[in-house]
Amino acid sequence: MADSSGNDPENAWKPATKLVHGGVERSQHGETAEAMYLTSGYVYDSAEQAAARMAGDAPGFVYSRYANPTVRMLEERLALIEGAETCRVASSGMGAISSAMISPCQAGDRVIAAKALFGSCRWIVGTLMPRYGIETEFVDGADLDAWAQALQKPTKLVLIESPSNPLLDAVDIAALAEMCRAAGAKLVVDNVFATPMLQRPLDLGADMSVYSATKHMDGQGRVLAGAILGESEWIEEHVDPYLRHTGPAPSPFNAWVVLKGLETLDLRVRRAADSAARLADAIAEHSNVTQIRYPGREDHPHFDVHSKQMEGGGTLVAFSIKGGRAAAFSVLNALSLIKISNNLGDSKSLACHPASTTHRALSDEERASMGLDDSWIRLSVGLEDAGDLEQDVLKALSSI
Ligand SMILES: *Cc1c(COP(=O)(O)O)cnc(C)c1O
Repeated sequence: MADSSGNDPENAWKPATKLVHGGVERSQHGETAEAMYLTSGYVYDSAEQAAARMAGDAPGFVYSRYANPTVRMLEERLALIEGAETCRVASSGMGAISSAMISPCQAGDRVIAAKALFGSCRWIVGTLMPRYGIETEFVDGADLDAWAQALQKPTKLVLIESPSNPLLDAVDIAALAEMCRAAGAKLVVDNVFATPMLQRPLDLGADMSVYSATKHMDGQGRVLAGAILGESEWIEEHVDPYLRHTGPAPSPFNAWVVLKGLETLDLRVRRAADSAARLADAIAEHSNVTQIRYPGREDHPHFDVHSKQMEGGGTLVAFSIKGGRAAAFSVLNALSLIKISNNLGDSKSLACHPASTTHRALSDEERASMGLDDSWIRLSVGLEDAGDLEQDVLKALSSI
């Protein structure tokens, strides 16, 4: 079990050390690198042992839909980094987030979410949950009065993303956590954009943090995975039965790739964030750019909130192009080093047009409610030389 509440020496390590050594469980062979246990099942010494393990009376693995040694190492490492009692890993970010949101709820419950959310998260809350009799409401994440109003009715869960996709809005996590606690609601924070290197929702008072490990944690665009982190009691009561019986279990191979990705997470995120800050400043100066959104810039409308809860500005930049959709498409098509892709958190810099890709499924009104129109480009900054990236993006901006 990932339990960081004890006196384990692992808990005293600094984050960079936890990323490399956390959760390692060596086999009898003493391998240096984490072992990959590609197995669906496990064999037992006796029928009695099988019965005891299945009943939960003896330690050990029973089936990889429930748990797997490589996946367990990843869960332990993530729990250590986040300072969480428990972590569960799922097959994708959405596998993790949907499980965290759906598993504790039943018909008649109420869920509130910030308007600015990843498209699939919005679909879970706005479309799927109401079908099962769960009342849901969206509020402007930056408006604490709106949260207070919405939390007057008994609420089970609150879901936010900060910085949000794609315009990098902030929600004041500590303030909202206090309001949720007073109202008896559990606060779930999608912390994908910040990563645990730059922002720690649980330290700010949130009940759970959730991740797409597909993004910065893998960091090299290879596999899908997701994680849920929070209190053991809640996760064991609500999330575990749901994960075990509905089955969004991660492949041990994918878990292994993410484990190795984590070893360089701190280095990669800090390097990409330095480049993103430089690019944001260069893009902001360009005459074809009407607006820039970067959490580390003072002209971001939520700079004060970002700077009190997030270390640095992160690896994503959003900017709006003079001339709307046609001009934004021209800029994307004129990039050569930076690739057009809706993924993010990769070592390769990737740019996309959110309104026609990641946020295409939303209605015009829904997009407008988050301030997203056809003029915006989202850039995920990677690990290339910052000067090469700057040259590429400035050349593309000047081409229209
Ligand atoms: C990518 C992403 C997700 C979903 O993760 P998958 O691994 O693609 O399922 C959820 N939230 C945010 C903020 C994301 O960027």
